[in-house]
Amino acid sequence: AQIAMLPIIRKVIELQKVQSERHELTLEFLGGHDLVVGDAGKLEQALTNLIGNAIKYSPDGGEVKIIVFEKNSMLNIEIQDEGLGIPPEAMDKVFEKFYRVDNSDRRSIGGTGLGLAIVKEIIHVHDGEIEVRSKYGEGSTFTITLPVSSFD
Ligand code: ATP
Ligand code: MG
Repeated sequence: AQIAMLPIIRKVIELQKVQSERHELTLEFLGGHDLVVGDAGKLEQALTNLIGNAIKYSPDGGEVKIIVFEKNSMLNIEIQDEGLGIPPEAMDKVFEKFYRVDNSDRRSIGGTGLGLAIVKEIIHVHDGEIEVRSKYGEGSTFTITLPVSSFD
């Protein structure tokens, strides 16, 4: 099915806001088309995992910024946080099943290490890509790109 992503993004933000009083969740739409072909429930799950991580790994709060725009027929969705960041040696591994960063800064934060593996799987099934940039101790940005639907 053809899916408008902006309403899904807004819904996930509203649902996640409830459990994050110390975070400011903001959405910036910079223009373009937001239609993709795929499974709305799965794409919602992917966004929930990413925004959930952004909140969970920012224990001191801060801004979680979601930036959305179309470029070269790809819909870009960036999730930026001001949290713990990811150590350089873990950057390649965070998308692996059951991998969790085992540093003292996050030892008390629970999880199974499946969230990002699921996100990667969902995005790849939709012919998209996922990338991460991070500065350890300053924050992380996860970017997903999905082909924009060309039917009208
Ligand atoms: P689950 O999502 O299954 O409950 P999890 O959050 O530990 O558990 P993933 O979502 O796959 O698992 O993330 C893997 C690891 O990557 C996490 O343990 C965490 O250390 C790191 N990580 C993921 N997202 C962020 C983020 N936004 N900021 C800092 N570290 C992150
Ligand atoms: Mg997670």
